[in-house]
Amino acid sequence: VVTKRELQRLKPELERILGSGNVLWDEKKLKEYSRDMADFRGDPVAVVRPGSTEELSRLVRLANRERIPIVPWGAGSSLTGAAISHAGVVVEMSRFDRIIEVDTVNWFVHVQAGVILDRLNRELEKSGFFFPPDPASSFICTVGGVLSEGAGGLRCVRYGTVKDWVLALKVVLPNGDVAIFGEPLPKNRAGYDLVHLFVGSEGTLGIIVEAWLKIQPIPYRRITRMMTHFHSWKPAVQAITRLRSERVQAALLEFMDGNTVKAVNRDFGTSFPVHPATLLIDLEEELVQKSLAIIRSCGAAEVVVAKNEEEAEAMYQARAWSYIAVRSEATGSRAEDVCVPITKLADYLTFVEKVSKRRRLKIVVHGHAGDGNVHPLILFDKNDRESVKRADAAFEDICEYAIRVGGTITGEHGIGSQKVRLLRKQLIAHGGAQPLKIMKAIKRMLDKRGIMNPGKYVEAA
Ligand SMILES: Cc1cc2nc3c(=O)[nH]c(=O)nc-3n(C[C@H](O)[C@H](O)[C@H](O)COP(=O)(O)OP(=O)(O)OC[C@H]3O[C@@H](n4cnc5c(N)ncnc54)[C@H](O)[C@@H]3O)c2cc1C
Repeated sequence: VVTKRELQRLKPELERILGSGNVLWDEKKLKEYSRDMADFRGDPVAVVRPGSTEELSRLVRLANRERIPIVPWGAGSSLTGAAISHAGVVVEMSRFDRIIEVDTVNWFVHVQAGVILDRLNRELEKSGFFFPPDPASSFICTVGGVLSEGAGGLRCVRYGTVKDWVLALKVVLPNGDVAIFGEPLPKNRAGYDLVHLFVGSEGTLGIIVEAWLKIQPIPYRRITRMMTHFHSWKPAVQAITRLRSERVQAALLEFMDGNTVKAVNRDFGTSFPVHPATLLIDLEEELVQKSLAIIRSCGAAEVVVAKNEEEAEAMYQARAWSYIAVRSEATGSRAEDVCVPITKLADYLTFVEKVSKRRRLKIVVHGHAGDGNVHPLILFDKNDRESVKRADAAFEDICEYAIRVGGTITGEHGIGSQKVRLLRKQLIAHGGAQPLKIMKAIKRMLDKRGIMNPGKYVEAA
């Protein structure tokens, strides 16, 4: 914890390092950085905007010397309180906005941490390449944010999550030293895999300033996008299971319940058919006929195949904006991020229905069904303490269920301050005492003075 008064003493030094325009104290600015997109709130004392690795390194050295808590900030789109600062300094990374090199022979992009994912893909598209992981927030989230969250997205059923696309990282460590982990090579066996220690570290081990990410040629094969609608989620899950067991690998396999589609239609003026369960599916041309036969045999009520790029894009955007559309239906919401083995998906959705009834709460469901990573969104009245309590209990019920059936409490959103107790529970239940012990030792070793995003994640578990 640092007070405004203590920080005022360091103001001249901070401004010497960063320039006075990049040390921000006014209440309006602080407010902008005091909540994430799931409404987790904090009270930062200052926001700083470093413009180079050298500046950031000097800033972190100062924070380490003075024991000032610092919290990196990409776009604040995370949903777990991970980017929230409690009486510390927010390190805003938007000035790290350069795409340094697109290498179309070695198939990597060298990029700074503040670059927004959609901008990166627009740039790559010019050379016929893309970076596959696509969180639904890719219009706003940053390279540093997605790496630190180990984010997923809609295409991950085909391509894997962010962790599968990272070759090397440049990081400012908690003592201010700068290190490069990994190499932009297709193969590299030199030493422990420290690159992946930083992927998913939620800003607790250092600040990522640059990354070398794998890129992929945009597929030559034509992709067909379709929405398939079902009378209930049971045949929809059956279709997913059958497609998988019949060796159909979809390039996208997403789920929306009827309430989700209704909310999207209402907010975005679309008129997608409303059925209790909808699957959004991308398939390579040669898999379409076989897949349609499977989907119909599972009892699909309606199948709508996109006729052109425009329709395909509208279907994608409907799913991408689901969270924003649904959460506006209540004053409060908790986004679940449980991921279960796909063989447990039907039991999982049955369990969510039971929780909804038992806790007397509306739970709307959408997400990455092809990964077993469906996001129930628990809606509640944030002005009613009893409703908040029931929502918290429902949230825990669902996470505990995931732990019991061999799933995880988080497939992509991470832990932040929201799920620390559950993190401990999962790690011990599935791996015994050692994993958490080793993780805590790593945190202590790298961040001896406990300045990097303190009081969250592994440290707090
Ligand atoms: C509408 C919507 C849809 C979403 N859909 C998805 C989805 O499909 N899949 C998914 O995985 N997530 C999704 N999210 C969650 C969120 O967008 C991701 O977690 C994303 O990775 C956060 O990126 P950000 O740049 O906003 O990071 P922030 O929220 O700013 O930060 C996230 C964490 O990373 C740390 N951090 C940020 N930058 C750095 C850096 N340079 N170095 C070190 N640490 C850093 C922060 O301290 C914090 O701990 C969604 C969110 C919204 C609002």
